[in-house]
Amino acid sequence: MLPDSLRFPPGGKPWLLYGLFGASLVLNLGLAIKFSGSDEPAPAAPTPTISPIGDDTTISNLPVPADLVVPLPEPLGVARAAGTEVFTGTVSSSLSATFQDAKDTNPAALSAVYSRLFAWDMDLRRDLHKGDTVEVLFEQPDGAEPLVLAARLRSQPGTGSEKVYAAWRYQAPGDRFPSYWSDTGEEVPRRLIDGPLPDYEQITSLLKDRPTHEGMDFKTPIGTPIVAPRAGRVTRTNWNHAANGNCVEVQYSDGVTAKFLHMNENGVKDGQSLSAGTEIGKTGNTGRSTGPHLHYQIERGSKVLDPIEYHGTLRRQLPTDAMPGFEQAKKELMEQLDGRLASR
Ligand SMILES: [Zn+2]
Repeated sequence: MLPDSLRFPPGGKPWLLYGLFGASLVLNLGLAIKFSGSDEPAPAAPTPTISPIGDDTTISNLPVPADLVVPLPEPLGVARAAGTEVFTGTVSSSLSATFQDAKDTNPAALSAVYSRLFAWDMDLRRDLHKGDTVEVLFEQPDGAEPLVLAARLRSQPGTGSEKVYAAWRYQAPGDRFPSYWSDTGEEVPRRLIDGPLPDYEQITSLLKDRPTHEGMDFKTPIGTPIVAPRAGRVTRTNWNHAANGNCVEVQYSDGVTAKFLHMNENGVKDGQSLSAGTEIGKTGNTGRSTGPHLHYQIERGSKVLDPIEYHGTLRRQLPTDAMPGFEQAKKELMEQLDGRLASR
């Protein structure tokens, strides 16, 4: 079971937001509505925005095209399932449709969480084929998003072009959080080369996910240290507090402006000079946020930049001495996944 600080949402308020987003099909219908729950800094004259799950709920996630973003409907209403669950499905149209029969969970949420893993390797709208199969071993915590323990995507099975993508949950020695690793011990999610969080649980929303969300979301427990990725100067703090919560704006020395939102503690003052790596505060769940996370947004002038392009990314490889432990963890997960699938 996850500690409370890791559970999404932590209770109460988020359901209201989920309710609001229940009308979220507006996203797919292309309608523009103003949603006050966005975590975007509100401009003087707010432009209409929608955000498929309160930004920031992390269930939205989705490094995938907008039409795959399926916000949660009403409260999950899913009771805790005992132990682990498995699901397998065959793609006939979209990824979300593939998950529609998933039991003991919220299918849209499971689809979203699954998509976070493989969206780093492909465009899940463009690159899925009819007949591809998804396989997932997961737990369903009470009222929170599913926790994926292992996932596979079999692309074009039975053809000469078959390719299998796998993601095994494993906490590498020295890491603060578990991550997901491929069969060969390569980390599945990419990381920013010089990002704002040395440690975090998972990137749950990318800039490209949805045009109305202008940043990148990092799911992480309240109190995770935030550092200035680049040297610069603090230009604002705690503006538009109702939406942004405790927040800091830093202008990097190259002129790029960075916003850090929903912080728990703000550790810097207006005008303060920062060197790269200086701690600027701790992550939180303040403002219009439905789960502990950091919203990180960068701009040059009026243009929003993609942190992935600005910072660059890397993929870690487990060190040799971690491989035996990983292989054992992978073996146990694989036995559960394959055993449960075989007994269905
Ligand atoms: Zn965000």
